[in-house]
Amino acid sequence: MAKFIFVTGGVVSGLGKGITSASLGLLMKSRGFRTTNIKIDPYLNYDAGTMNPYQHGEVFVLDDGGEVDLDLGNYERFLDTSLTFEHNITTGKVYSSVIEKERRGDYLGATVQVIPHITNEIKERIRRIARDYDIVVVEIGGTVGDIESMPFLEAARQMQLEEDVAFVHVTYVPKLKVVGEQKTKPTQHSVKELRSLGIQPDAIIARSEDPLEESARRKISLFTNVPEEAVISAYDVEDTYEVPLILEKEGLARYITKSLGLEDRKPDLRSWREMVEKYKRLEETVEIAVVGKYVKLADSYLSIKEALKHSSVANRVKVRIRWIESEDVEKEGYELLKGVDGIIVPGGFGARGTEGKIMAVHYAREKGIPFLGICFGFQLTVVEFARNVLGLEGAHSTEIDPNTPYPVVDLLPEQRGIDKLGGTMRLGAYPVRIKEGTLARALYGKELIYERHRHRWEVNPIFIEQLENKGLVFSGISGDDKRRMEILELPGHPYFIATQYHPELKSRPMNPAPVFRGLVKAAKEKKFGG
Ligand code: GLN
Repeated sequence: MAKFIFVTGGVVSGLGKGITSASLGLLMKSRGFRTTNIKIDPYLNYDAGTMNPYQHGEVFVLDDGGEVDLDLGNYERFLDTSLTFEHNITTGKVYSSVIEKERRGDYLGATVQVIPHITNEIKERIRRIARDYDIVVVEIGGTVGDIESMPFLEAARQMQLEEDVAFVHVTYVPKLKVVGEQKTKPTQHSVKELRSLGIQPDAIIARSEDPLEESARRKISLFTNVPEEAVISAYDVEDTYEVPLILEKEGLARYITKSLGLEDRKPDLRSWREMVEKYKRLEETVEIAVVGKYVKLADSYLSIKEALKHSSVANRVKVRIRWIESEDVEKEGYELLKGVDGIIVPGGFGARGTEGKIMAVHYAREKGIPFLGICFGFQLTVVEFARNVLGLEGAHSTEIDPNTPYPVVDLLPEQRGIDKLGGTMRLGAYPVRIKEGTLARALYGKELIYERHRHRWEVNPIFIEQLENKGLVFSGISGDDKRRMEILELPGHPYFIATQYHPELKSRPMNPAPVFRGLVKAAKEKKFGG
């Protein structure tokens, strides 16, 4: 029988509850417990697919095509596992299945209510996942006290009687400059709020700038009925991969396993620790530009940031990211890209800033700067090449210019007639077949790979021959229908590769995505010599 750890949040959002949950998952997994993580998002959207990355950060995509919250990316990276759409529970999903059941007559005669129908649906969804595991960490999004999260907290409260459950509450302990003292009152209030909902936390994770002072720890313990040893100090660190090590040192997992009646096991964190140490010791730095549209919010490109970090460790060189708003390149020109050792043009949608991205591709191609294009970046690489090498003036993707004389990137045939519906893009993992003797083949070291997608447009087959005649190589094509272009590269350039899929989504701390690893290697060679 699986045991459950609910992670709730108090005081403010953005405390790193996702990283905490992922860390807790890793600490349990490293003790040999079969562990998985679930994310509950109390918003009404069915999934994250139609949400603006400005608000919630990047939309993460799973193997099964689920468009989910970026915390699932954190879980996958920390636990080195692959999750399914079912691991992200939203209010939208819960209500739509309850309403569907009501229409089907499943509740015939009953008044359908939040308690018990919605709460039962929530519990059922959590338990469905739990079947194959010893421990399930369930992160409840939002902050305790939000109206939206009430049904989920209520379901969790009910589960205390029915299962082995532990509660971990993540709060914020601010330090007021004037008094120079850590303040515990917000934590006290937030725990009071939680207790008013029938939930007594087993452990408190106090997020603070500096390590928690002993007096603050004592106070929190006294006011919340949580023993001092279970008031865990989680202070700010530069590298999120350090968090599990800090929580382990603080004894969080030991305490939770004890309160769940589990055997006290020693964790095996050797390789994780080694990875963190290696990263810390890096001295040399390369600079890679990410030319995108939502760069003001680095979370919009979280997985790219992470993939670069993974590649950093593998190549023994630190990567500094120069975030560049592509619209600024349009206004200020190539100057903004001067001095970088590599360029990434990431995925994206819509017209704004497109020309700036095309300029970035152009600059990388002409100046021999290591380059990686992803999804929209892949499509715009084809546009740039068509315009400037094939001389097809006005070539474009029909997404941006429906009347272009040269539609080198066009809608997937099955996408015609679909307009902006959620969950209708080409989503999730599909096979890609890599041609022999190419850069891509050298990077991956095999012929068949599975990578995650999220797009509506693709390279227009009509132009492939022309593009290839001028030296562009399509080194990867879809392995199922064998007709979609998936990887392109440019022989003779130090490193120039682009993918229709999103390689960053499957990059792992100990196993970086090959095209990222290759980019950082090429950037390092450019700067320090090969
Ligand atoms: N907008 C492009 C498409 O839909 C690219 C999508 C992306 O970059 N994820 O095909």
